[in-house]
Amino acid sequence: MSSAQEHPDTSAPEIEHTDDEWRRRLSPAEYAVLRQAGTERPFTGEYTDTTTEGVYRCRACGAELFRSTEKFESHCGWPSFYDPADSDAVILRPDDSLGMRRVEVLCRTCHSHLGHVFEGEGYPTPTDQRYCINSISLTLEPQ
Ligand SMILES: [Zn+2]
Repeated sequence: MSSAQEHPDTSAPEIEHTDDEWRRRLSPAEYAVLRQAGTERPFTGEYTDTTTEGVYRCRACGAELFRSTEKFESHCGWPSFYDPADSDAVILRPDDSLGMRRVEVLCRTCHSHLGHVFEGEGYPTPTDQRYCINSISLTLEPQ
């Protein structure tokens, strides 16, 4: 995917913690997704159908990631966004796990796992991208 090449992952995280520190800071469910690249079950996350206006922040470090104006109804079972609020907010990284070529989305500030981005699916969004993000990776700050 070209966007992964335009924003290569060359930076070290601004916020770093040891594995033990992350385990203390996060709930077991948060840790499994954010630090072990797990995926919450579809249609179970607290923000899947949320339309509240506000800013979505990284639950691990608090960095702003997405805005509610970029969230759209994808019916895929996870919160979906078509563009990061700030292109520097996330890092994209090829992910060949599960025998599929996917692009992983990470928080640039702390390198925690957020979800995956897909494109060319035909959603009526300005970028034809779907940032498929785990609710548990996010904290919504209502406006
Ligand atoms: Zn973060």
